[in-house]
Amino acid sequence: MTRAVAAIVILGLTLTIALGAAFGVDATALILLALIAAFGALAVSVARKARAGTIKPAVCPSCEGFNSPNAPYCKHCGTHLKRQHS
Ligand SMILES: [Zn+2]
Repeated sequence: MTRAVAAIVILGLTLTIALGAAFGVDATALILLALIAAFGALAVSVARKARAGTIKPAVCPSCEGFNSPNAPYCKHCGTHLKRQHS
């Protein structure tokens, strides 16, 4: 997932640089470049967190209900939830 996001960002950067080279780099191209870089950094950060499991919901082993990642107990059936270190 992180690789896919990085590939899209690199593609966007390459395209912007190519367009800048073809039509001349102006303020719009620089702003676009900054936006793509900012979005890319954010997307990669979110993708890394998702892969690390920090924003993945905790699934109850008893009722398979979704819970907050930091919830100590299942909000559906009250089963004690183990912290997932994956
Ligand atoms: Zn449950």
